[in-house]
Amino acid sequence: MRAAAVILPLAVSMLVGCAHNPPPSATPAPKPPPPCLSQLDDLPFATCLLTELDQVWTRELRDTGRTYTAPRLTVGDGARGDRTRDGGPDRAFYSPRSGIHLPTRYLMAVHTAYGPRAQMNLTFTMSHEIGHHIQSLLHPGTDVRVNDREAQADCYSGVWAHQEAADGKLNSEQFRAAATAELNRLSTYPDEVATHGDPAQRLASLDKGLHSGDPAACDVGPLTWR
Ligand SMILES: [Zn+2]
Repeated sequence: MRAAAVILPLAVSMLVGCAHNPPPSATPAPKPPPPCLSQLDDLPFATCLLTELDQVWTRELRDTGRTYTAPRLTVGDGARGDRTRDGGPDRAFYSPRSGIHLPTRYLMAVHTAYGPRAQMNLTFTMSHEIGHHIQSLLHPGTDVRVNDREAQADCYSGVWAHQEAADGKLNSEQFRAAATAELNRLSTYPDEVATHGDPAQRLASLDKGLHSGDPAACDVGPLTWR
């Protein structure tokens, strides 16, 4: 559906172009794509959101003369061998080799907790995971404390939300409320607080990015933006 919405105005404008005398008002304005949050199924939602995450980070890296490459995305089970220390099939995780994973058990837990409003909570999750992708692009293989790595991913999540809100595509207050709820829920997993920090610490990291919109504000040790 989304591809059709993009292709159709292009086809119309090409036809108008062939007529050689189009009045300027004859070219229809391209329809904006539907907001990702209106996608209720996980795969189209996550695919849509990844595009918006990619757009912001492409721009941010380009502004500093670097090139962004998009991560792969797995929605539902797959690639269990990529399980990492800080995640697993019951939680979302990122692997430098295979990208962002939203395992089935994680998605079920999120939908059980939040019902039809789960997309905003998943928005926080994906923006955190892509923070790990940015780390992987900028500092591949750099060894830092897991808590520092997680704090920076939370901060990058806030940076993205700041930019997305500035583009008119996100309500940052709703995003922050959904992130807070998800941080509280995740803190009930026994290993989560030890590796990621408690909800108050994580929210402080997220706010650093959300308020500044500046990835450099997220620098931790050797994981620097510039
Ligand atoms: Zn993480």
